[in-house]
Amino acid sequence: MPRLSRRTFVAASAAAALVARPAVAAPAATVAEFDVAIIGAGAAGIAAARRVAAAGRRYVLIEAAGQIGGRCVTDTRSFGVPFDRGAHWIHFPGSNPVARLAPRSGIEIYPAPQSQKVRIGLRNAREGELEDFLSAQVRATRAIADAARKGDTSCAQALPNDLGDWRPTVAFVLGPFMCGKDLAQISTADFARAPERRADAFCRQGFGALLASLAGGLSVQLDTPASAIAVGRGIAVETPKGTISARTAIITVSTNVMASGRIRFTPNLPRRVADACNNLSLGSYDHIALELSGNPLDLDSDDLVFEKSSNTHTAAILANTSGSQLCLIEVAGSFGRELSGEGEAAMVDFAADWLTKLYGGEIRKAVSRAGATQWNADARFLGAMSAAAPGGEAARRVLSEPIYEAVWYAGEAAHDTLWGTVGGAWESGERAAAAALRRLAGMREPAPEEKRPPRRRQGAHHRRVPR
Ligand SMILES: Cc1cc2nc3c(=O)[nH]c(=O)nc-3n(C[C@H](O)[C@H](O)[C@H](O)COP(=O)(O)OP(=O)(O)OC[C@H]3O[C@@H](n4cnc5c(N)ncnc54)[C@H](O)[C@@H]3O)c2cc1C
Repeated sequence: MPRLSRRTFVAASAAAALVARPAVAAPAATVAEFDVAIIGAGAAGIAAARRVAAAGRRYVLIEAAGQIGGRCVTDTRSFGVPFDRGAHWIHFPGSNPVARLAPRSGIEIYPAPQSQKVRIGLRNAREGELEDFLSAQVRATRAIADAARKGDTSCAQALPNDLGDWRPTVAFVLGPFMCGKDLAQISTADFARAPERRADAFCRQGFGALLASLAGGLSVQLDTPASAIAVGRGIAVETPKGTISARTAIITVSTNVMASGRIRFTPNLPRRVADACNNLSLGSYDHIALELSGNPLDLDSDDLVFEKSSNTHTAAILANTSGSQLCLIEVAGSFGRELSGEGEAAMVDFAADWLTKLYGGEIRKAVSRAGATQWNADARFLGAMSAAAPGGEAARRVLSEPIYEAVWYAGEAAHDTLWGTVGGAWESGERAAAAALRRLAGMREPAPEEKRPPRRRQGAHHRRVPR
């Protein structure tokens, strides 16, 4: 695929359409430069753009960052090997739309190991202990599903009483590790609707690299954040480079960005949409990446390890990713949020101390390079993945309906079952694109005289966007 770099993919037509204007106004003109304006080039935005492009419609895809991928991006510079800063696990690889579209060459997808390990103090859990842990997980999952059938409460309330001393570990795995939030903050109905992840896969080049390979050939405006969206007879999207006009729009920014007010909507976002975004706020999930020389943990490639913990101050290890020396310490939920708030150095410190507690003395010396993601602090995301608040699972359906007549929201949060995943975001983007295309098919094409560009307003500074 062509290499993606800052400010690449600027299609001539797209650049010509961006004109600097002092403020955004609800458009009255019948002429729009694009059929679909897509805001955000993560999985949902890429999927939507591909679908619109395949239908031969004019689209513009704008992205606030200097790269595409959003929460699914591979960093090869920090450690010299692929480091997925966001999504890494390819869930449901058999049906995952991103995996199914993977190019035949240059991308290798392989199954993730089926088993997981558990550390109890300084030793590995024995066979019988592992069975107890797995059976506690199954009982907890069933109890949440049972509770969901009776009403929508919190997953913490639904946990059975017989989990014994596995309770904190099970709560970590089902809550922060799988959903980015503590179980008390997660709706039983939302949790129960997500299918069980029985098989996963990894991409040797990185999940982000795989996603990026599917954007080859798309035209993307990088470093172009939308600051305002106005809806009238058409749609106007304001960016620092000028205002874009389109007939329909698909917005794929995270629910936390939607709720933050960073994008101004005219008219205001409908109350039900604003409430849905609040009910689907993002949890916290970060990778603390340690490059460990000499495999001091004595773990295999892609081994997943949990700690038998007695409180929430715990994490998971994904060791030697794709056979490299990179080990990811996964921190999430309220503890992960608190830790990431203390900064990267504190996160790396925690990871080294925690591994030392589990594996003994020499771990710190084996760390050659380290780093950590901080998704909550990044204004383009403000968190990791959505999980519905107790009582709030209906919000996903609200988000999949049109916001205004010709504007749709798409993204992981708008998927009823595959929420919090790249595959879910992709499918949601495709659905929004299909809805926009249907709407366009039913719209009257402007008559030739209507297509004449509107006269310049006095004092408006129309100019082409600098490349
Ligand atoms: C640490 C972490 C681990 C994860 N692990 C997994 C995993 O293993 N497997 C899995 O399937 N999923 C995982 N996820 C979830 C997955 O990454 C997301 O569900 C998915 O990538 C979301 O895609 P999206 O298109 O909905 O949103 P995003 O990827 O957030 O895309 C939205 C895009 O909009 C851009 N944007 C924001 N504001 C503006 C603006 N004003 N104007 C223009 N553009 C803007 C953003 O920069 C971004 O590129 C993980 C997420 C995180 C953070």
